[in-house]
Amino acid sequence: MGFERILGQTAATETLERALRTGKVHHAYRFEGPSGVGKEMAAFAFAQALVCATPPPDGYAHRACGKCSACTRAVTFSSEPPLVPLHPDVVLIERGIYSPEALHRSRPELQDISVDQIRRLVLERAGFPPHEGRARVYIVRRADELSLGAANALLKTLEEPGANTYFVLLTARGNELLPTILSRTLVVRFGPLAESVVRAIIESKGTASEAAKMAAELSGGSVEAALALADPEATGERRAGRSRRRRRALGLTRARQRNVARSIGRARRAPGGRRARLGCRGSCARGAGSARSRRRCAGDRRARTKRVAGARARGHGGEAPARAIVGARATPLPSLFAPRGRRRGPRVR
Ligand SMILES: [Zn+2]
Repeated sequence: MGFERILGQTAATETLERALRTGKVHHAYRFEGPSGVGKEMAAFAFAQALVCATPPPDGYAHRACGKCSACTRAVTFSSEPPLVPLHPDVVLIERGIYSPEALHRSRPELQDISVDQIRRLVLERAGFPPHEGRARVYIVRRADELSLGAANALLKTLEEPGANTYFVLLTARGNELLPTILSRTLVVRFGPLAESVVRAIIESKGTASEAAKMAAELSGGSVEAALALADPEATGERRAGRSRRRRRALGLTRARQRNVARSIGRARRAPGGRRARLGCRGSCARGAGSARSRRRCAGDRRARTKRVAGARARGHGGEAPARAIVGARATPLPSLFAPRGRRRGPRVR
C-alpha cells in the first residue's frame, strides 16, 4: 500500500513523502482530521515505507516496494484477536484491542487506553532495537482516548524514542489531547475529501453510481459516512462483526457490553467526566490542574461568561432555575439569579 492509493490528501502525503525522501523523518507525528478520510491508510503506508526490507532504487528511497515480506506483513492483520499487523515492528495501540491477560491487568480497557498498554507495548520495548532491524512504528488509533496516566507515561518516550522508533498518533479530536502530547508531536492535517473523490472511492467498492452520488453529497467528505449512507445494512453488519470480535477479545457477554456502554456514556456526560478530568472546561485546552487554577484560566472564564449571558437571554433572572445546555453538557443554571432568600444549589463559578 503506497501513498498513491491515498486519494485527495495531496498535502499530507507530500509532507510524509518529502520527509522520507530527505531522510528527515520526525519521530512522532499526529495525523489529525475527521474519520474516514485516509489517516489510517496513510499511517500504514508510512509504516510500510519505514520497515520495507528491499533496498529501493536511487531516488525512490521514500517508496515501499510493496512486495517484500516486511511490506506485506506491515499491512496484513492477524485473523484472530488481537487483530494487529503481522509485522512485529508495526505495533498497533488502541483501546480494548488486547486482552486484559496480555496487558497483565484484571479488567478490560472499556473507557480509555490504559497505562498498562503503554507499559507493555512501548516502555518495556524502549531499550531494545526493532525486531527486524530497520524501524519500529507505533500507530495509536484514537489517540484522544489515552488515559491521563497513559499519556503521561508516553511523554518521555514520545520526546526521545530509541533509534529508529517512530510514533503516529491518529485522532479526529486533537483538542482532547493533552497539551504536552500536542507539543511533542508534529501535526499532519487531513481535510474532508472532495465529493468527487468520495464518490469515486465508494463506487470502486461496489456502490451503484446514483447511490454513490447521493451518499457522497451528504457524506461531509468522509468515506466512512458515505459507505454508511449508501448501504446502511452492510455497515450494520460490519459494525456487528466488529462488536462481536471486540466482545470476544474482552470476554464480555452482549448484555454486559450494553451495560458498560451505557455507564461509559453516563460517565462522559456527567460533570467531572472525561473532559473535566482533562482540565479546563473552556476553550483554552489547558491541562489538568486544581479547581483554583481552572478558575483563573481564561478559557474557563469565557465559557462561564457565555453561560451566564445565555441564561440572562433566556430570561431566567429571578425565575426558578431550569437547566441550560452548554455544549453537550447539562449545567445547572446559576442560582445567583434566584431572588434573595431562595438561593440554593451550588454557586456559579
Ligand atoms: Zn518492501
